[in-house]
Amino acid sequence: MWNEKLIEKPTGPQLVNDSKTPSGRVHVGSLRGVLIHDAVYRALLSRGFDAKYSYGIDDLDPLDGLPADAEPWLKDYMGYPLCSVPAPETSSATDLADHYISEFLGLFNKLGVGAEIYRTRDLYRSGRFNEAIDAILKNAAIVRKVYAEVSNAARPANWLPFQVICEGCGKIGVTEVTNYDGKEVSYSCRPDLVTWASGCGNRGRISPFDGNGKLPWKLEWVAKWHTLGVTIEGAGKDHCTRGGSREVAAACLRGIFGEEPPLNVPYEFFLIVGAKMSSSKAIGTSAREMGDLLPPEILRFLMIRTPPKKTVNFSTDHDYLVKLYNEHDRLVESCLSGRATAEQEKTLELIEVNPRSTAYHPVGFQLLTALLQLPHIDIEKEIEQRSETSPTRADKDSLHKRLRSARYWLENFAAAEDRLELQLEVPDSVECLRASQRAFLSLLGSRFPTDRIAEDEYQRFIFDTARLTPIDHKSAFQALYRALLDKDQGPKGGALLSYLGTDFLIERFSKIAYSIDEFWQETGVTPDSCEAWISEHEQSISGTEFALFLNAVSLTGAASDSGRFLSGKGVVEIYAKLDDDREHTIRVLPTDFEGEGGDLAQEDERLKRYARDFIQGLSGKFRLSFKERGPIRITRETASTDLPVEHGPA
Ligand SMILES: [Zn+2]
Repeated sequence: MWNEKLIEKPTGPQLVNDSKTPSGRVHVGSLRGVLIHDAVYRALLSRGFDAKYSYGIDDLDPLDGLPADAEPWLKDYMGYPLCSVPAPETSSATDLADHYISEFLGLFNKLGVGAEIYRTRDLYRSGRFNEAIDAILKNAAIVRKVYAEVSNAARPANWLPFQVICEGCGKIGVTEVTNYDGKEVSYSCRPDLVTWASGCGNRGRISPFDGNGKLPWKLEWVAKWHTLGVTIEGAGKDHCTRGGSREVAAACLRGIFGEEPPLNVPYEFFLIVGAKMSSSKAIGTSAREMGDLLPPEILRFLMIRTPPKKTVNFSTDHDYLVKLYNEHDRLVESCLSGRATAEQEKTLELIEVNPRSTAYHPVGFQLLTALLQLPHIDIEKEIEQRSETSPTRADKDSLHKRLRSARYWLENFAAAEDRLELQLEVPDSVECLRASQRAFLSLLGSRFPTDRIAEDEYQRFIFDTARLTPIDHKSAFQALYRALLDKDQGPKGGALLSYLGTDFLIERFSKIAYSIDEFWQETGVTPDSCEAWISEHEQSISGTEFALFLNAVSLTGAASDSGRFLSGKGVVEIYAKLDDDREHTIRVLPTDFEGEGGDLAQEDERLKRYARDFIQGLSGKFRLSFKERGPIRITRETASTDLPVEHGPA
């Protein structure tokens, strides 16, 4: 795993650190850093390191932009330290910083993140940063030089890397500090320092210590690394560019304290459908909402399975979530079955909230979202009845979390086309299916098992019926979803059938009509293709049978007893059973007769003669014996464009 490779070099006690400025509802992207650091921390612990993970809330930072959910009065607080801005009236938080960070920190427990939380205001107010502040102010020349050389940012010769809280107006984002004498700094509260807030014009001298002000965040990084003894701290790739803040901070740390910066873990963005998220623009989803959408282990899986250097492109689309869940579930299943690689075992351990949590049998997200939309289903009971072993506590917990997730998704994210609705009548759109698709549905109905069977047996039943039709799998499943849900896609077919009543399904499928003539036209092959198929499968054929069918098409109302018809077809169906016990139908379409006034008795004779020669030929060529499966079957249908026509052969 990437997290283990990272810690090959470090020695001695380790402090992993990460932080967040609570300037708005925290977006899910911020969880990537939290969980990347947590993965590194877990790797350290499992290697026996004396390790700690600390997470800082940078709450002395100024309010420098309005959050997306800001109330109008908040604009009056621009430039104030976040921890001095009141929380919204409805909030129980002590201040705005506390308000925004609380719901984010609430996720830490849920996600099993073992970080110790600290508030940066406390580091300042308690005096813990005083030594670092003193050293940085005394060495401001080094800071100015680094700014100029590394990030090409010129600062005036008297500029100091510090901002105090103005004694006149209480703002921090608008003050400029100069002239440090070892005890106090001079400051001016400038009306024009920044565009987003205006200072009161106050000037004065004040101690920079004990929470009277703060370092700019690049230097705050330096103060944390030095004061706390941080050994590993990653940063988003936007900070890790050449001349970027990470490089500036590292150079300042070396220049002022002669220390080496922590091990960096640069990580890529977490994107929601391609757009970078930021807490000041309402793009994407908050971490809290994501915590409601995804169970903790799925959220951990999402963030951790991708190595830090690759972008995570997240989407709340149905297909994306189904894929995400399925990948996770395959991982769980391979670990349960003992087939997992060491890497897979480690991944699973890393994404579980409790690394020693017991194994469970996951129920697919796609199935749950489907079941939640089907009427009259007690999902928990149904799933329990279907599982081979009686569900464990872990199975039940997992099911509850997943049901909550599926419900939340349906309520908040599902698009209209994602919604399933069991059709109480045959949908009109079934008419738009091809004849072979409708014939497949009809065949499903005529061979549907009367006793309930297991989900995977229903799945096999669908595949078997598709082979016997014959029809390709994609068209078969499309027809199935169309007939039940009026959609082209749906949950696993076998699962769907297993949750709907046998009577309902038989009734539904046997109501589907189709034209035999069209069906044969679509699925019939030439005698040569039939020979080619047998030749290809000859070695594995274990049994062969055949049957003859004749179908006559008359004009509407003209399907008289006289035996006269407009056109028709005769087919020889070959049934080949292979070694794997699967039976295939090959429909040979040798005769295609047309012309008003045909004679059915004649066509009957003609087909029989043809079949005799054809079967004899096959028997000779392949040394197979073909048993006839019952007498020839003759059907009639009318050529009316108005369906329905007669039902096909069972
Ligand atoms: Zn002021």
